[in-house]
Amino acid sequence: MKFSTQFIERVSEANSIVDIIAQHTQLKSTGSGMMGRCPFPDHPEKTPSFSVSESKQVYHCFGCGKSGNIFTFYEIIKV
Ligand SMILES: [Zn+2]
Repeated sequence: MKFSTQFIERVSEANSIVDIIAQHTQLKSTGSGMMGRCPFPDHPEKTPSFSVSESKQVYHCFGCGKSGNIFTFYEIIKV
C-alpha cells in the first residue's frame, strides 16, 4: 500500500501515535505507556488489552496480537 504525500504530511503533523489512537479509543496512562480497549472493528473487548508506546510510536494489542505504527493503524482503521 502506497501513501500519498498529503497523507504522510497529515500524519507527521499529528504530535504522536497516542493523539491519533485517542481519537478512536479511550486511552489511560500506565507506568510505561498508554492502555485502552482495542480500537479495531474485528476485536471488540471489554477489558483494555491494547497498549500504545509514545516513546516508540507503536501500538500492540495483547488480545488480538495486532501491532504496528501510525501507518499500519490507518491501514486497518481506514479513516
Ligand atoms: Zn485487539
